[in-house]
Amino acid sequence: MAQADVVVIGAGLSGLVDAILLAETGRKVVVLEHHEVAGGYQQQFWRKGTLFDVGYHYMGSTAPGRPMRQFLEYLRVWDRLRLLPLPEDAAIEVVNGARRFAYPNGWQRFQEQALAAWPHERAGLERLFQDVVAVTGAFKWFDLARDKPYAHPLDLDFTSVSLAEYLRPLVQDPWLLQVLGVQAFNLGLLAHEAPWVKYALALRSNFDVTCRIAGGGGALVAALVERGRELGVDFRLRAEVVGFECAERRVRRVRTADGGAHAADLFIAACHPKTVLACIRDEDISPVFKERVLRMKDSRGALQVFLRLKELPRSLGQACLMIVDEEEARREPPIHIVLVTNPAAVEGTELGGARLELMTFLEHAPFAPWAGTQVMRRGAEYERFKADLARRVLDLTVRLAPELPELIEDMYASTPLTDEWYTLNTHGAVFGISHDVTQQGLARPLPRMRLRNLFFTGHSIQMPGICGVFINAFDTCEMLRGGESLFAAVAS
Ligand SMILES: Cc1cc2nc3c(=O)[nH]c(=O)nc-3n(C[C@H](O)[C@H](O)[C@H](O)COP(=O)(O)OP(=O)(O)OC[C@H]3O[C@@H](n4cnc5c(N)ncnc54)[C@H](O)[C@@H]3O)c2cc1C
Repeated sequence: MAQADVVVIGAGLSGLVDAILLAETGRKVVVLEHHEVAGGYQQQFWRKGTLFDVGYHYMGSTAPGRPMRQFLEYLRVWDRLRLLPLPEDAAIEVVNGARRFAYPNGWQRFQEQALAAWPHERAGLERLFQDVVAVTGAFKWFDLARDKPYAHPLDLDFTSVSLAEYLRPLVQDPWLLQVLGVQAFNLGLLAHEAPWVKYALALRSNFDVTCRIAGGGGALVAALVERGRELGVDFRLRAEVVGFECAERRVRRVRTADGGAHAADLFIAACHPKTVLACIRDEDISPVFKERVLRMKDSRGALQVFLRLKELPRSLGQACLMIVDEEEARREPPIHIVLVTNPAAVEGTELGGARLELMTFLEHAPFAPWAGTQVMRRGAEYERFKADLARRVLDLTVRLAPELPELIEDMYASTPLTDEWYTLNTHGAVFGISHDVTQQGLARPLPRMRLRNLFFTGHSIQMPGICGVFINAFDTCEMLRGGESLFAAVAS
């Protein structure tokens, strides 16, 4: 039986960051990952010489002093990455028919452009900007000011008000409401589902400076793994944790599907909490708590379309596009927004070939008939359903790039079931347990729980997305390392 100081379960971004932060303190850290590659949702795949990202489109907050920059510098991976900022004046463009609004790359500039586009909504917009600044200023891992007293992030009130409720008295213009609402997509939610406070954090994190990474999300994973190895982290791939042995309210060891056993003083579950709780016996944990978490609603899954192209489409530039179409939103299953990423326009075709990545979020229910079936063996009906959805997503994109059909060499599609298969996130949930208004506060799994040496982190905890899971990992590890020195080092 292997013995370590810390066992981290899952080698997604959160597990990799946890491993580094704990190995830095001299602890012997083992990371157990079920898949054959590290990265979780940040993994990539190649098709005929073309590289595709599973869960990476853009990463914000990389300007000096902003959270992602500070985290990456602290971890000593910043210098291993080449960041490619999206265009200054149009990083993410929202499109609905003939209407367009370009989110620029800076917070200040966004405020100016929004006020210029909707002068009649000045009072409401100014209030929104002030409130976003107030919310992010109260969240220590966003604000990163030294010597300022902060409440604990978990004490922020994520519960009470949805984005739609917050905006109702402030903004009347339907197009402005739509443009602001699509940013809830960064939480996998619609405006009436997204907690206003989480929305404010996710919105603000997408400015100053929003980037592609040369080589995509895989380059970030490779840099974190390299840093982990320098610190002696032991990465075990194809090591799925399937059992917990506990005594006296502590985990003694975990068992892996290949028959291995790993004992440690500390265990960090950096994966979907449901997959972990499902393999802890009822007598070792409060069955009421376990049942509550297992019944919680998962976030939506992703329907993705990956296009291998002959060359870059002339009509699409470097900006990511968010396409909104009311008719598609009314169909079953509804497609509310399609996100179009054109990585090669930013990174160049030599890195991974000409390609487009299209995605939308979908509920899991329409895929339920094929739950539990094996990847590549789900049958003709599933393939037809997937192809119909992929066609709807593609058709919306072709309206903006009519030359696209001529350029397509190959098209691949994935569904929430594909993601579930590769990452073990139940229901292929893009952001783990849904972050909607009804599932906030003490209703959510917290980093610390009844088993004294088992901690949760990852995208189901405080915040999802790349910046969110870095925040969760730093917050969990600060608690484990003790004191506030980690925060002070990141803030400086
Ligand atoms: C389609 C899509 C697009 C996205 N786009 C963006 C974006 O542009 N910007 C952004 O900021 N965020 C984006 N995200 C979100 C971001 O990718 C995730 O929030 C983040 O990567 C989650 O990291 P994680 O480590 O918490 O979880 P995961 O990435 O889910 O990692 C969990 C890991 O644990 C492993 N695991 C699970 N169970 C076990 C077990 N029992 N034993 C061992 N290992 C186990 C899994 O295999 C996996 O490797 C996107 C996500 C998706 C799906």
